[in-house]
Amino acid sequence: MTQDQKDRILAVLRAIPMPDGGADAVSRGMVSEIFVASGKAFFSLSVPASDAERFEGFRREAERRVGELDGIEAAMVALTAERKGGGMAARPPAAPRAAPAAPHPHHHPRPRPGTPPAASGPGPVVPRAAKPGIPGIARIVAVASGKGGVGKSTTAVNLALGLQSLGLKIGLLDADIYGPSVPRLLNLKGRPETVGGRTMVPLQAYGLKAMSMGFLVEEETPMIWRGPMVMSALTQMLREVEWGELDILVVDMPPGTGDAQLTMAQQVPLAGAVIVSTPQDLALIDARKGLAMFRKVEVPVLGIVENMSYFLAPDTGKRYDIFGHGGARAEAERLGVPFLGEVPIEMAIRESSDSGHPVMASDPDGPHAAVYREIARRTLASIEGVAAAAPQAPTIVFE
Ligand code: ADP
Repeated sequence: MTQDQKDRILAVLRAIPMPDGGADAVSRGMVSEIFVASGKAFFSLSVPASDAERFEGFRREAERRVGELDGIEAAMVALTAERKGGGMAARPPAAPRAAPAAPHPHHHPRPRPGTPPAASGPGPVVPRAAKPGIPGIARIVAVASGKGGVGKSTTAVNLALGLQSLGLKIGLLDADIYGPSVPRLLNLKGRPETVGGRTMVPLQAYGLKAMSMGFLVEEETPMIWRGPMVMSALTQMLREVEWGELDILVVDMPPGTGDAQLTMAQQVPLAGAVIVSTPQDLALIDARKGLAMFRKVEVPVLGIVENMSYFLAPDTGKRYDIFGHGGARAEAERLGVPFLGEVPIEMAIRESSDSGHPVMASDPDGPHAAVYREIARRTLASIEGVAAAAPQAPTIVFE
């Protein structure tokens, strides 16, 4: 990157009005190191944690204006939480190290995924409701995140394809009823056929059976769902679809940890949940909410994926931790949940995902597919660990 490029980017950023009406982002020291490679600019903006939503428009505007500069094809800008007092101020006190639940002489001494003591947060544990399974589907795994835009859907799709590449039969249910993204991510259009008047046949892409609210309503339709309607739409997509025999149904959950998510997590017979987070403190705090939510409904957390974790310069292969990478791994260790892997921030992942050709399918031998395949392997191991540790499951010990 030339000094001139950097100066032009800074000049653009200085000119964007701040949502809080204050001095510009550059003179306030909010702009990270700027990295430009192959015409793509990457940087982050550190904003007060409480103001993240207000700065989202600013972030988009920065991406747009920097992307329009001569010699820059595109920009990727991320918001990071401003660190106050070492960035730990907002964190709850550290949980004690997890001890294995119900130690078993033949069991691997790893903490049982998703059940560290003292980390389930305040509030009562909602007893696991009797959730009837779905005939033909061996396991249902949720992919969740504390907030939107962290790459949850991208991870869900590539995880599903990664699991499939390990030889499993996989379905993908887009439970993000408000903002379905599976039709776009898998480049699927059209309506599912119905058989016998009610049962729908899932659409198929890259070998995955997929179902999404996006297949059933026009993309532009505003959807104001009330709680019960969300539930009945979800129930229908789960139970009134000809899924056939599946080893795993991956569910792309709606972002957030509100009531709708809680209800959903309670209604769906989940084998476990994968939490997607970005390295930023902000997202990590939200990831913790996700963990707490699943614990409340006694759904095991299979592990955390750190998305947009680091950036590999395409020309030199040098690694840049521009977004403060490593937070999710440390957090997973602290909470005693498995760390499933880290996915770099990559133009190829964004482009392929947004054009409906996920990297796992479009470049199965490439480096990003390898990352997702490893995440799929670890997820599978975690599912098996949870099943083995579940008290209600009969355990067979081979001597
Ligand atoms: P969410 O489901 O959390 O809202 P998405 O999966 O829709 O997030 O991703 C948000 C945006 O970020 C999309 O444009 C997607 O292509 C992009 N994205 C996701 N993961 C990555 C990554 N590792 N590198 C670059 N872009 C990514």
